[in-house]
Amino acid sequence: MRIEQDLKLGFKDVLFRPKRSTLKSRSQVELTRDFTFKHSGRQWSGVPIIAANMDSVGSFEMAASLAKHGVMTAVHKHYTVADWAEFIKRSDASVLNNVMVSTGTSDADFQKTKDIMAMTDELIFICIDIANGYSEHLVEYVERVRAEFPDKVISAGNVVTGDMVEELILAGADIVKVGIGPGSVCTTRVKTGVGYPQLSAIIECADAAHGLGGRIIGDGGCACAGDVAKAFGGGADFVMLGGMLAGHEESNGEVIEKDGKMFMKFYGMSSQSAMDKHSGGVAKYRAAEGKTILLPYRGPVENTIQDIMGGVRSTCTYVGAAQLKELTKRTTFIRVQEQENNVFGKE
Ligand code: 5GP
Repeated sequence: MRIEQDLKLGFKDVLFRPKRSTLKSRSQVELTRDFTFKHSGRQWSGVPIIAANMDSVGSFEMAASLAKHGVMTAVHKHYTVADWAEFIKRSDASVLNNVMVSTGTSDADFQKTKDIMAMTDELIFICIDIANGYSEHLVEYVERVRAEFPDKVISAGNVVTGDMVEELILAGADIVKVGIGPGSVCTTRVKTGVGYPQLSAIIECADAAHGLGGRIIGDGGCACAGDVAKAFGGGADFVMLGGMLAGHEESNGEVIEKDGKMFMKFYGMSSQSAMDKHSGGVAKYRAAEGKTILLPYRGPVENTIQDIMGGVRSTCTYVGAAQLKELTKRTTFIRVQEQENNVFGKE
């Protein structure tokens, strides 16, 4: 047994230190980033925020709404090939270029990904997603997908340490998804005791990925726009959001009326709810590692995404970053023991 003594940080442990800036207004801040990906050589330009591939977040409807802002959606893996065909038919290239096709790592998943990707050249992102990215099986699967799709952008995860980021990039991933345990409907840390504070995971994994020309997605744990900014400040190239984009019209969750108020169901992809829906219940050998909650129904996602982008722009003006790309270079985090003042309740 070993103990690592240095303290790892979450979003709640830091704030940005303001810096002198020549920017007059947040309207001067450019959130669009241009990437050329390591293996595929593909170029992509957009706002590097991604709706999570959860079945009450990453829907086709979410993709259509967020693409208007250049924001991405990792579409969940529970749509059929026929659903995809229909979606592709009714979407123009600006939507499909901002969509990630999610997949697990079974042979059936591989075939389904092939069938979906064969329908159009406009789909360029594949998101290989398993809860525990430390399995050797994931590395082999990434190699297999890279061999099949040499010119597609491949994301793989989830992991939280630099060694595994490097291994996945060397196996063919352009992007590595980072986060174990920070999610809003995740119970992994409670059920297993495994996890890594998300800000430190981002800082360490970004360093490893960038050294090899790879990119990372900070996935999970953002509860407000300030956290999204902190993830970018820590070095995340992309930030993935579940809970912050759940509960909206486009999230496609089940709407429930209770005492005259509208709610939407939101659940973890390893929760009892998800396994009942997609796998015929929780298998005997495993425990659910996600929870199910009811969120007040929030209407269209438009206001929320504007609010998040406005927050990140404002962060950039406080530290003098004219472009999102500069934010991490201009970031000094200060360790804190307080965040917002809650005397009149939470925002
Ligand atoms: P959020 O933005 O809601 O904090 O986190 C979203 C992320 O939580 C997802 O992208 C995914 O990585 C993770 N997640 C989703 N469902 C589950 C689950 O049931 N269990 C665990 N451990 N993580 C989940």
